[in-house]
Amino acid sequence: MRAYWIDLFRGHFPSLLEEALREAQDRGKGLTSAQQRAAQAQREFNAYLDRMSNPQHHQGRLTILDICLERERVLRRAKFDDPYRLAKARENQASLPLLPSVLAELDALPDDRREVEVIRGVFAGNIFDLGATQTAALFQNGQRVSFQTSRQELRPRPWLVDDLDAWLDRMNQPPHRLALLFVDNAGPDIILGMIPLARHLLQRGTGVILTANTTPSLNDVTHQELTGLIDRVAQFDPVISEARADKRLRLIASGNGAPLIDLSRLSPELVQAVEQDLPDLVVLEGMGRAIESNFDARFTCDALKIAMVKDPGVGQKLGGEVYDLVFRFEPAS
Ligand code: MG
Repeated sequence: MRAYWIDLFRGHFPSLLEEALREAQDRGKGLTSAQQRAAQAQREFNAYLDRMSNPQHHQGRLTILDICLERERVLRRAKFDDPYRLAKARENQASLPLLPSVLAELDALPDDRREVEVIRGVFAGNIFDLGATQTAALFQNGQRVSFQTSRQELRPRPWLVDDLDAWLDRMNQPPHRLALLFVDNAGPDIILGMIPLARHLLQRGTGVILTANTTPSLNDVTHQELTGLIDRVAQFDPVISEARADKRLRLIASGNGAPLIDLSRLSPELVQAVEQDLPDLVVLEGMGRAIESNFDARFTCDALKIAMVKDPGVGQKLGGEVYDLVFRFEPAS
């Protein structure tokens, strides 16, 4: 398994550096110096992966999160702070104008159908992922998979992990008091998938904390970007603007800077909010947060793990394949 992951990271890194070069040029950085820095990053990351693949040099436990964090360190040393900045902005620009109709569509549905469509929307948005080799190819050279198409073509139920019925039962009970949502990617993922879920919970009377990465990693939305997006949504959506005004909707940076998350290393602000306000629902969204790093994490409150499988190795581990859907609901234990 270690060789599989090391090969995957090695194979993906050049496309990341291509994004980094485009981003550097866009900021007016010289191409030659950016190319030199990219070559340096490539050498350093390859050397790290070589060391990790040699059992004599690395006998301890190596996690995917370790490799993700080293990748960020290599990029920062080469002065690439946010290689996917342009890609994220492009996808945000394309997704925002679609949000009003997605929300109107959801609002027009009967309650039971809306519960299901909100979740299907999260899956459909989650296809945007430039960190997974399979789905990154769908978004290359200005191409994209439309949210509508992605939603239409979702795998039918039963999903690979399918606790939807139990979740729908829970949704017929009194609403949660406070939900903590760990969000994943920019673009359709946050805008057309997770913001509608947050809004849906708010409409039911649940307070919501949206927590995004503090520092950039791949195409994950950052806390700063999310704050700007929510401000823009609040300009046209009264549910979001009112919840923002009365602080039923809060945004707190997670402290994270990777596509996976170690829940024992969150920002002091988020830890304080959790200790004070005790969320009774945690939502982990996306393959990195919900499957690769926390699939077996147990919570004392209700937990949802929602993701589209975008890597054959991850699929195999769960007995499935790419594009399979994971919806795990674990009531408070
Ligand atoms: Mg991601």
